Amino acid sequence: MLDWIKRRVSGAKNQARTARSAKKPTAEVIPPAQHGIPEQKISGNALRVLERLHDAGYDAHIVGGGVRDLLLGLRPKDFDVATNATPEQVRQVFRHSRIIGRRFRIVHVMFGRDMIEVTTFRGHHSNAEDESQGEVHDSGLLLRDNVYGSIEEDAVRRDFTVNALYYGVDGNVRDFCHGMRDIQQRRIHMIGDPETRYREDPVRMLRAVRLAAKLDFTLEKSTAAPIARLAPLLDDISNARLFDEMVKLFMAGSAVKTFELMVQHQLFQVLFPGPARLLQPGNFSDQLIRQALANTDTRIRNDQRVTPAFLCAAILWPVLQQQQQHAEHEGLPPYQALQKAAQKVIGEQVRRIGIPKRFTLPMQEIWELQWQLTRRQGGRAEKMLEHPRFRAAYDFLLLREQAGEDMQGLGQWWTDYQAADAEKREQMQRDLNRTEGQPRNNRRRRGGRNRRGSHPPPHQH
Ligand code: ATP
Ligand code: MG
Repeated sequence: MLDWIKRRVSGAKNQARTARSAKKPTAEVIPPAQHGIPEQKISGNALRVLERLHDAGYDAHIVGGGVRDLLLGLRPKDFDVATNATPEQVRQVFRHSRIIGRRFRIVHVMFGRDMIEVTTFRGHHSNAEDESQGEVHDSGLLLRDNVYGSIEEDAVRRDFTVNALYYGVDGNVRDFCHGMRDIQQRRIHMIGDPETRYREDPVRMLRAVRLAAKLDFTLEKSTAAPIARLAPLLDDISNARLFDEMVKLFMAGSAVKTFELMVQHQLFQVLFPGPARLLQPGNFSDQLIRQALANTDTRIRNDQRVTPAFLCAAILWPVLQQQQQHAEHEGLPPYQALQKAAQKVIGEQVRRIGIPKRFTLPMQEIWELQWQLTRRQGGRAEKMLEHPRFRAAYDFLLLREQAGEDMQGLGQWWTDYQAADAEKREQMQRDLNRTEGQPRNNRRRRGGRNRRGSHPPPHQH
């Protein structure tokens, strides 16, 4: 438990040379002895940025996830710096830097392969000299946020109290929004009026559940309350930004918890409308998604590679199966039905979440290989092992079985086949010829949901 002396510092010296709003910050200043962040845990490059900006006469602090995570004893993903220097002024201090972004201009300061993101304090839009610097849409959505201000204004424009803690060159943490209290009480608390803040930027709803899941925090009541009602506002967010957010939601090590919160607050339904329609607590879709996310979490813990393609393939699999059945009803043979369904399912999903082609192509391949994995005779199994995406397809097959799809031992067969020597493999092939003669339908599922009943005739091509 953190224990610090609360010291109100009013009229703290504002070193800002360029801050437009001269409002004196009122913050609780927490010295190192009380906040307990060990300096050696802070990125040396981030400290360097603070010092160089300070030496150039500007005010600069580390803010956001870096401070928050260190206070919680976690290893921060990155360190962001906020300053009263404008992007152009920051550029002048650091030779290896560049200004990026339009909606939100920031400076990337490069140190070899390391990069520190530097943002200028954001201010109230009423400060704007030029309206276009802080455009607001009728719905309350912020189209641009390039109005600069004081550190205090910057603090209240951040999303959650625990993200508005500022670590300065003096080693003190400045708390303008009771962030320390909420760190202690382990809760995500929106700064200001939650509904207004969600309307300004609906992605904050996703950030709320992501942070709650990652930190194992609760969502403060008024922060949680409007989410389910406002979730449809995410429709206004570009599908590219939502793809980036989806990756953060599901590939940061707490995907199962995140999924549960997303379902609870109606966010999953907005991002994945197709899969959400088939989702019931405990049913096959639910099991499959949870299993895929649990595997992702485990892989991340073990420093193994994870890809959005595999995850998206899993989330969309039940929809794909349903669409494939429709296409078969219309008379297409199974493999063509699968391909047609894949096009349709991906086409609908990317309207919401802009999954790039480099991931949708592997998704399609993983799905198509589910069919190929059932066709093992006449040298096909040997060829299959050499397929560049065999491993992903095999893992996907095991995942389906884990989630309760009855593949009649197909996963085990492939496990054995990979481990077998040449002689054993021949034997396995002979056994197949004896018991089957034909490849098997790959869509049978526990619970007899297959329209052909539990003993379908084999497919013929
Ligand atoms: P992570 O551990 O994922 O990096 P983070 O809180 O640092 O978490 P970033 O996306 O790196 O998240 O953002 C840095 C900081 O910028 C946040 O802590 C928050 O103060 C502010 N911020 C980011 N996104 C928003 C937003 N949509 N609205 C308001 N403030 C935001
Ligand atoms: Mg961050």
